[in-house]
Amino acid sequence: MSGDGSRHSPASIRQQGPRQLSITWRDGHESVYEVRNLRLACACASCVDEWTGAGRLEPASVPEDVHPLRIEPVGRYAIQIHWSDGHDTGIYPFARLRELDPNG
Ligand SMILES: [Zn+2]
Repeated sequence: MSGDGSRHSPASIRQQGPRQLSITWRDGHESVYEVRNLRLACACASCVDEWTGAGRLEPASVPEDVHPLRIEPVGRYAIQIHWSDGHDTGIYPFARLRELDPNG
């Protein structure tokens, strides 16, 4: 860990329309995600093989219009997203979300 917690600490999380999720971080950076990409990046045990790390999720099985129904905080380090396709076991640590930011 770098010790700079503001990089991995969100100031606000909000949906921008049906397809985009925006996170503003405490260091001032804003990340905008296509929500379906976040669904495809789910790292839970049913989406990624725990032993090999290989993806088990078939992208074609994820609806084009998949979107978050509910987003809940998990402690101080992550969010859990309840998806419109019924999937709700994915935990997204803030550090990983920051890595997934398409704009770095
Ligand atoms: Zn998953």
